[in-house]
Amino acid sequence: MTDSHTPTFERFGFSSALLRAIERRGYEHPTAIQQEAIPPILNGDDVLGCAQTGTGKTAAFALPAIEKLTSAELTPEHQLRVLVLAPTRELAVQINDCFEAYSQHTSVRQTVIHGGVGANPQIQRLRKGMDVVVATPGRLLDLLEQGHLSLQTVELLVVDEADMMLDMGFIDDVTKIINLASNRNQTLLFSATLPPEVQSIADNWLDNPKTITVVPDAIPIHLINQSVFFVENINKDLLLIQYLFATPRARTLVFVRTKKDAERVAGNINRVKLEALPLHGNKSQGRRRKAIAAFRSEQAPILVATDVAARGLDFDNISHVINYALPEYPEYYIHRVGRTGRAGAKGEAISLCASHERYYLKQIETLADISIAVREWNFDDFGSFPQLERASQRRRKRKPDDQEAMETDAEQATSDPSWVRGKRKKKKKKKKRQSRVITMDDIKSPSQQSGATGKYAPKKRSLD
Ligand code: AMP
Repeated sequence: MTDSHTPTFERFGFSSALLRAIERRGYEHPTAIQQEAIPPILNGDDVLGCAQTGTGKTAAFALPAIEKLTSAELTPEHQLRVLVLAPTRELAVQINDCFEAYSQHTSVRQTVIHGGVGANPQIQRLRKGMDVVVATPGRLLDLLEQGHLSLQTVELLVVDEADMMLDMGFIDDVTKIINLASNRNQTLLFSATLPPEVQSIADNWLDNPKTITVVPDAIPIHLINQSVFFVENINKDLLLIQYLFATPRARTLVFVRTKKDAERVAGNINRVKLEALPLHGNKSQGRRRKAIAAFRSEQAPILVATDVAARGLDFDNISHVINYALPEYPEYYIHRVGRTGRAGAKGEAISLCASHERYYLKQIETLADISIAVREWNFDDFGSFPQLERASQRRRKRKPDDQEAMETDAEQATSDPSWVRGKRKKKKKKKKRQSRVITMDDIKSPSQQSGATGKYAPKKRSLD
C-alpha cells in the first residue's frame, strides 16, 4: 500500500500521457536519482549527476525532457530540441529505446545516431525532423560536418557517462559538440564516477549545477557474496575455467581489462566447451548486438567484457560477476559487482587478484568499506578435467624438457602456450570442436552429483 510519504511520479506534475507510459513500464515509485534529479531538471537547472547504471538515471533525465518537450507545442517540423550524447552505440540505442517507450503516448519523435552501420537510414530519419536525438559523438560530428543536422535549436543537452567519454578519448569531440549547441539553456551531465577531470569539465560546461550523488551507497553491496583469489596472471585462465566448471551459475559476466584479453579469455573458455562471447569496442555493431542478445536471452551464459563495452548495458539476472582483472578505479568494481545481487537476490562476485593488483584491491576495500574474503583455489582438485589434461599432455609431448620445471599439473596446463595464448593450430581446433559437450555432471564429484540439475550445463550452440 502506498502511504502519503511514499514518493510517486504524480507529484512531479507529469502529463497523463507520460504517467501512462511510466505505469505501462511497471515503475511504481521514482528511484533515488529520479526523486532528486527530476525536480531541478523540470525547473530548468543544470544538473551534475553522479550515478551509475541500474539506478534509473536514464529515466531521471528522459522523463523530464519529454515533459518539457510536450508541455509546450511541439514545432510542426519537429526541430531538434533535446540532444543526448552517449559513449557507446549500445548505450545510445538503450537510451533511445527508453525515450521511445516513455514518449509512446505523445507525438515526440526521437532517433539514434551511431557509427558502425550505414549513415543513410539515419540521415533519412533526420530529414523527417526529430525532437530528440541520441548520439555517439563520432557519427554525430560526421553528420554535422556534412550538414545533415544543426544543433542551433538544441535547448537541452545531456552528456551521459562522461567519465567513459573521457576514457574513450571522446573529450575533444564532445567539446566541439557542446560548443555547437550554443543556444542551449540547460545542460545535464551524468557520470558513474567523478574523477577530477570530469569535475573540471563540469565546471566549464555547467552553469551553477545541482550536484546529485547516488553512488556507491545505492548499490546493495552487502547483498553480494564477494571473495578474492590471489592468483598470478599466468594462472588466471585456468582458475577461471575451473571455477566456471565447478560453480552452478546462471548468467555470468567476466570483466577483463583490454579488448585483447576479452578475445583471448572468451576463446579459452570456448575451447573447453563452455559458451562465452567477447564484448568489446572492436567488435562490429552486428556482432555486439548478437552477443548482447544472446546473453540477454541466456543462449550464451557467459559474457567476457571490457568495462567500456559493458557500461550502461542493463542486464538483469546475473548470478556471477567475475573480475578477471581488478579495475584501476575502485568505483568500477562497485559498478561491476552491482550487476549481480539485484532486486534482493544474493549475487556472487569473485576477483582474481595478481600481486601487482593488490593495491587496487586495497583501494576497493577502502572505498566500499568492506573486507573481501580471501579464498584459496586448489588447482589439483581438477585433475580429471579432460580438456586441461589433454592440454598438459600435448605440452608434455612437445616440450619434455620444460616439464621438469613444472610443479603441478595445473601449472603445466596454464603454461602450455597454445592454451594460454590461444595459438592452437586450426586443424586441431576443428577436431576438438567435434568432441562431446562437457556438462556439470562431468566435473562434479559423486557426492555432489545427486543434487546436479543439469540446469547450468553449457549448451552446445553456435552464434554466427
Ligand atoms: P538505468 O540506470 O537508467 O540503466 O535503469 C536501470 C533499470 O531500472 C532499467 O531497466 C529501467 O527500466 C529500470 N527503472 C528505471 N526507473 C525505474 C523505476 N522508477 N522503477 C523501477 N524500475 C526502474
